[in-house]
Amino acid sequence: MTMLCLGEHHAFEAADQRYLYLVPSAAVFALDAPAGALIDALGDQPVDRAELIARVSPEFPAMDLDALLTELEQIHAVRPAAEPVPEMPAIIPLTPVESFPLTTAVLNVTNQCNLSCGYCYEYSEDKIVDTTNGAQPKFMTDETARKSIDLLFRESGEVEVVHVSFFGGETLMNYPVLSRAVPYAKAQAEAHGKRVEFNLTTNATLLTTKMIEFLAQEDISVTVSVDGPRDMQNRFRVFHDGSGSYDVMLPRVRELLQRHRSRPIGARVTLTSQVNDILGIYQHLTEEIGFQEVGFAPVTTSPGRDHALDGSGFDQMVTQFKALADEFLRAALAGQHHGFSNVSETLGEIHKGVSKAYPCGAGLGLIGVATGGDVALCHRFAGSDEHNLGSVTEGLDREAQQAFLERNHIAHKTDCHTCWARPLCSGGCYHEAHTRYGTTTHPNLHYCDWIREWTDICLRIYGEIAERSPRFLNRFDS
Ligand code: SF4
Ligand code: SF4
Repeated sequence: MTMLCLGEHHAFEAADQRYLYLVPSAAVFALDAPAGALIDALGDQPVDRAELIARVSPEFPAMDLDALLTELEQIHAVRPAAEPVPEMPAIIPLTPVESFPLTTAVLNVTNQCNLSCGYCYEYSEDKIVDTTNGAQPKFMTDETARKSIDLLFRESGEVEVVHVSFFGGETLMNYPVLSRAVPYAKAQAEAHGKRVEFNLTTNATLLTTKMIEFLAQEDISVTVSVDGPRDMQNRFRVFHDGSGSYDVMLPRVRELLQRHRSRPIGARVTLTSQVNDILGIYQHLTEEIGFQEVGFAPVTTSPGRDHALDGSGFDQMVTQFKALADEFLRAALAGQHHGFSNVSETLGEIHKGVSKAYPCGAGLGLIGVATGGDVALCHRFAGSDEHNLGSVTEGLDREAQQAFLERNHIAHKTDCHTCWARPLCSGGCYHEAHTRYGTTTHPNLHYCDWIREWTDICLRIYGEIAERSPRFLNRFDS
C-alpha cells in the first residue's frame, strides 16, 4: 500500500484553465481534466495509490492514470504521505563563498543630496549610517571608484557581463567621478575579456545637457526616482528650503527621454500613505511625461511614521496593482508594450522557475561600496560597520560574507517554511527587515498578505498569457 498526499502547492485558475504553482520546484503546471481529477480525489487526506486510480478511472477509462500519477509524483505535485515534508534546500555549510562570483557593484559615489525627501531612508530617523556626522567622506574619490571596479572584475570569476551601478545620495552630485569611472571600467572589461553594463539612479534635478549626452553616448541605463504628478512629487520630494522639485525635474527628464533612446528610461516611485494614486501616477509618468518603465515600491520605514503604509494602505495598493496588472495583461495579449515593471519582473522570475534561498543578490553577487571604500551588503547598507564585507583596498571579507549568508538563509526563517510564496519572496528585503525588526535575519512578516496576493495576481497573468499568447513569454527566456 502506498499512501499519497498532495505536494506543497498554490492552486490558481487563468483563462478557464486550472494551474498549480509547485513550491518545491517553483514550476507552473497546467492541469488537464484527468490530472485535475486525481488532485481533487486526493483532497486533504492521504489516499492509497491504487484506490486513487480506482476512484478516477470510471471518468477517464481510456487514460493511463498510473503513468499520469507517476508524472505528478515526479514534479512533486503528489508525494508519498509517509515521507516527511521536504526540507528547505540544503544549506549549511554553503558552497565555499570564494566560488560565488560578483556580478554587480553599486558605487555610492556620494552620500549627499540636493533634495530632502521626507521619507528618505538615508537621512530620516530610520537611517542606518550617519552620513552627516559620521566617518564617511561625503564624496567618493576617483581612486576609490577605480578600486571598486578592480574588485568587481577581480572577484567576477567566469561571469561574462558585470554591472556597475551609480547610486547616492544624489548620484549626479559626484558626476565628475562617475563620468571618469565609466571609461575606466570599459578599459578593464576589455582587458579581462568581459562586458560591463552601467546603471545610474538619480532624482534628475541636476541633469544637464552635457550629462544627458554622456549617458546616451555611453549607453547607461537610467532610473529616475520620481513620485508622479506635481502635487505627489512635491509632497515629499522637496529641496532643503522645502520647495517642490517637480518643475525643476520635469524639463530635464523630458530632455533625457528625448535624447537618450538606446535604453528604456525607468521611473521608480516610492509609495507612502499620502502618495498612493498608483493608476494616476502611472498614467502621468508614461502618457504625459514619456517614461517607458515605471516601478513602484512601498516606502521603507518603521511603523507608525506619518508616511508609513498601514494595513488599509497595503490593501489599497494591491487593488490598484491589480488594476494596472490587468492593463498589462490586455497589452500583452494585444502584443503591445506596457511599462508596469513590477509585473514584468515577477513574470520573468516565474517563467525562469526562480526559487530563492535569499531574497536578493545583496552580499551574494552584489555589493554596495560606501564613499570611503567600505564594502557592504548593498547600497542601502553602504558604510554600516555592522554589515561590512571588507573594503575595496583590503578585498572582500569572505568570512564575514559566509557568516552573513549562513545566518540569512531561508532555512532559518521558520515563519516562511509553510508559505507558498517563499520561492519568490524568501523573506523579503534585508533593509526593510532591518528597519522594521532591527535585523536582516527577520522575515518581513508585516507584508506577507500583500506579497502572497501580488504573487497570485502575477501567476494568473502568467497563466493567461501562457494559454492565450505564449510567444510573449519568449522575452523571459534569456
Ligand atoms: S516573508 Fe511572508 S510572504 Fe515572504 S516568504 Fe516569508 S512568510 Fe512568505
Ligand atoms: S537588501 Fe533590499 S535594498 Fe538591498 S539589494 Fe536587497 S532588496 Fe535591494
